[in-house]
Amino acid sequence: MTAVYRIVAPNPGPYTGPGTNTWIVEAGPVVAVIDPGPDDATHLAAINKRLAGATVGVVLVTHSHPDHLPLAERLAVAHHASVKRHPELGDEDVVRVGTLNVTALFTPGHSPDHLCFWLAGDRALFTGDLILGRGSSMVTYPEGDVAAYLHSLERVAALSPRTLFPGHWDPVEDAAGKIEEYRLHRLEREAQVLAEVRRGSGTASELTRRVYGDLDDRLMFAAEMTMRAHLRKLVDDGLVRSNGEVDQEVFDAPVS
Ligand SMILES: [Zn+2]
Repeated sequence: MTAVYRIVAPNPGPYTGPGTNTWIVEAGPVVAVIDPGPDDATHLAAINKRLAGATVGVVLVTHSHPDHLPLAERLAVAHHASVKRHPELGDEDVVRVGTLNVTALFTPGHSPDHLCFWLAGDRALFTGDLILGRGSSMVTYPEGDVAAYLHSLERVAALSPRTLFPGHWDPVEDAAGKIEEYRLHRLEREAQVLAEVRRGSGTASELTRRVYGDLDDRLMFAAEMTMRAHLRKLVDDGLVRSNGEVDQEVFDAPVS
């Protein structure tokens, strides 16, 4: 079993849980670092302390969001390592580091540039924000893509991973159960949105208020962007129609 260590970045919050997980993966004489996290001096010091002089073979990044990517360059320069992420890394590209082969899996949905990293020998999957250890992943308009997200979940389920190392929260031992939980959660959201549109037409913002009631501004914005991402898929699937200009478009469901 490959040794994996975690350092949690000091960026707790509503979307980051206790903070971003920076993973250090032992690969014989060297290590790989996955998701260095925010550009924060105390986090860099914590990573260097944990490395204890080990050679960093490569710095891998699951996606370019500000809680995962920014420290990558500084960490890589300090250790004379390279940063690898999408699009330089494509689907099923294998990164050889020390004794390990790490396979990149293109898994868009949460973001258009999202990769997971797969250790086939350990059946271990570093999921970034495709799957979190707790709660649900954000799939929001305009960069989130619900159809791609569901496809990415099905893709990683097919690998039958044993352990998930998520971008936030704790490692997950019931990998299959967690992936299925995420898939069902997304499908339930979709069914809820479709049911609301069938109840009566409305703009994205009206539909959001009808489903969630009154939320504070920030939560309302996230809820509406989630609603828009779901509506886009339902329009693509032909289950919902969009009428009018973007931002004022009204959604309805054709009678079937
Ligand atoms: Zn994140």
